Amino acid sequence: MATSVPKTMKGVIIEKTGGTDVLQYKTDLPVPEPKEGEVLVKNEFIGVNYIDNYFRTGLYPIPAYPYILGREGSGTIAAVGPSNIPSDLTPSTRVAYMGPSAYAEYTIAATKYTIPLPSSISNETGAASLLQAFTALTLIREAYPVQKGDWILVTAAAGGVGLWLVQLLRAVGARTIATASSPEKRELARSNGAEVTLEYHEEDRDKFVKEVVEITGGEGVSAVFDSVGKATFDAVLQTVRRKGTVVSFGNASGAVEGLALARLSTKNVKLLRPTLFNYIYTREETQQYASELFDFITKDKLNVHIHNVYPLEDVKRAHEDIQSRKTTGKLLLKV
Ligand code: NDP
Repeated sequence: MATSVPKTMKGVIIEKTGGTDVLQYKTDLPVPEPKEGEVLVKNEFIGVNYIDNYFRTGLYPIPAYPYILGREGSGTIAAVGPSNIPSDLTPSTRVAYMGPSAYAEYTIAATKYTIPLPSSISNETGAASLLQAFTALTLIREAYPVQKGDWILVTAAAGGVGLWLVQLLRAVGARTIATASSPEKRELARSNGAEVTLEYHEEDRDKFVKEVVEITGGEGVSAVFDSVGKATFDAVLQTVRRKGTVVSFGNASGAVEGLALARLSTKNVKLLRPTLFNYIYTREETQQYASELFDFITKDKLNVHIHNVYPLEDVKRAHEDIQSRKTTGKLLLKV
């Protein structure tokens, strides 16, 4: 390991699951050492994602305690493992990465999920353009390969993944119907590419379904990208056209349960519940999506919408904000 790397670091651990009180900011955590196929990144920015709540609250299992939350960051490589390190990942290289334990000063990242940042992409943009942007890009390329002119429904469209989705869908020529919970969020989705924005109409789901069907000329949408889950699944399933696709990729309101498969036969609907890391499984896949994404950002001038940047020690506030639906686009922590 490089000599300039200290033995201890700042970071945020949890020792049990629960509310935001379980997040503990520490200044004396051991700095981990990279092994074969790993690099040690000195973080500058750390991305906050809704999935961090799932781990903190126990919806997704914690491998072992104490556990450092966070699943992406950017900064510079401080040290590399003893072997199996690609030639573009050398000490001092600016990188962004996806992987666990990012809420810290230093994080071990697997080389397959570590991306050297081109000079056109700042560390801040890098940390704001990984998990959520990769999710959006893989969804429109692989979960449902979107075609020019398709009508697509996106829920939580002003959120992290949502704002990427509406922008990418516009860039590939789709027509997007976007939902979000407030007029300000809907305006943000509209100004970033949604053709039509709608309220969820939680009190009257039939109204919501009717509106979507009417907008699409009575046919229904070609695909739905839904991350809200429990609260919206039943309604969005009804908005899709015959042979359409429902991509359920998140559980912000709770997990979808108890679907009778026979419901899909009403319109021969395809239903997927994908996860990003089965679309980017190899370094080649990661690099390919990274280069496509950076091209979109620079050539199509996508708006990397950063909601706020908090110091790492304000992690509780960050979790409270994202959980209470206050954020739009990306929330970052700065070390
Ligand atoms: P967001 O920034 O989109 O935040 C979540 C949003 O969900 C909120 O802003 C809110 O928007 C909406 N929401 C609806 N109902 C609720 C509720 N009951 N409580 C809280 N929020 C609610 O987060 P991310 O961009 O980080 O993630 C978006 C979704 O994508 C998440 O569900 C996440 O799990 C999923 N995801 C899935 C991946 C995969 O591989 N399958 C990878 C990455 C993310 P509004 O107020 O407008 O409704």
